[in-house]
Amino acid sequence: MLNRRNFISLSFLTAFSTILKSSFSGALLKADEKPPGDTEHGFPMVISTWKHGIAANEAAWQVLVQGGQSLDAVEQGVRVTEADPDNSSVGVGGFPDRDGDVTLDACIMDPKGKAGSVTFLQHIVHPVSVARLVMEKTPHVMLSGEGALEFALQNGFRKEDLLTDKARKAWEEWKEKSHYKPVINVENHDTIGMLAIDKNGDISGACTTSGLAFKMHGRVGDSPIIGAGLFVDNEVGGAVATGLGELVMKTLGSFLVVEFMRSGYSPREACRLAVDRIADKLPEYDRNQVGYLAVNKAGETGAFAIHKGFNYALKREDVNALLDSGALL
Ligand code: ASP
Repeated sequence: MLNRRNFISLSFLTAFSTILKSSFSGALLKADEKPPGDTEHGFPMVISTWKHGIAANEAAWQVLVQGGQSLDAVEQGVRVTEADPDNSSVGVGGFPDRDGDVTLDACIMDPKGKAGSVTFLQHIVHPVSVARLVMEKTPHVMLSGEGALEFALQNGFRKEDLLTDKARKAWEEWKEKSHYKPVINVENHDTIGMLAIDKNGDISGACTTSGLAFKMHGRVGDSPIIGAGLFVDNEVGGAVATGLGELVMKTLGSFLVVEFMRSGYSPREACRLAVDRIADKLPEYDRNQVGYLAVNKAGETGAFAIHKGFNYALKREDVNALLDSGALL
């Protein structure tokens, strides 16, 4: 459904995309805040947070380009990051909590508004796939800790040691300096959140993380919380969050972004307004980072963060780009 503001913004972007089309050749680009906005042929497409999104998008793209569904695309996409032992913030290789345990959070949403989530899950390389099974096989949305692990094992997942040598070494060094105090700063935020639109125009999203490095044992962030780390409304669009989960949870950020899009704001404006909300309500905002990434039903994308440095990967037939978000500070 197009309201007046949507109509104006889509008309503008259609013109804008015509100008830009010739300059995007499909090569990996580093662009300014404004992504190319081909709103008429905006999908299939996939976006995801941070540089690791490039490889994840590639896997999602393989699903989408073969006519597959956005739900399969986002699951397959983020599994790439979960399986990468060199990535210290997602899945295997994720930095542990302050007790040395790797605990994972993930969630997934489909175009029908169904949702599944796991929190504080240990020993499983692919929490996003467990979250999908929670969505598809149980009457619940969220399973946590021991219960989530039991459910995963019952469904054929293997119990594995997720703590790599690199992560163990980082934890040991951290313990020496930190005296076991949880540390919060603008680094160490690299959750992967992904949103995809398939050829039918249906939107799904996924989000998966090992959370803050060296967090308190038992801490759960925004990433597995529907409406905080991820929200999808297939009539409007989807949003994902990365950064300090406590700020995102207290403002239910991804839901807020989607609601701003529902009111007619572009994805970038919607993300900026959700960052403004954090700045208005939470005095600690300037010492921490949060980034939002969103897509609307037309395939237009946008991102905004508290601090500079947040970027996202966009993959579409004509584009394979790493784009900088806008920033408040
Ligand atoms: N949002 C995640 C959390 O708070 C952290 C991140 O984005 O890396 O757990």
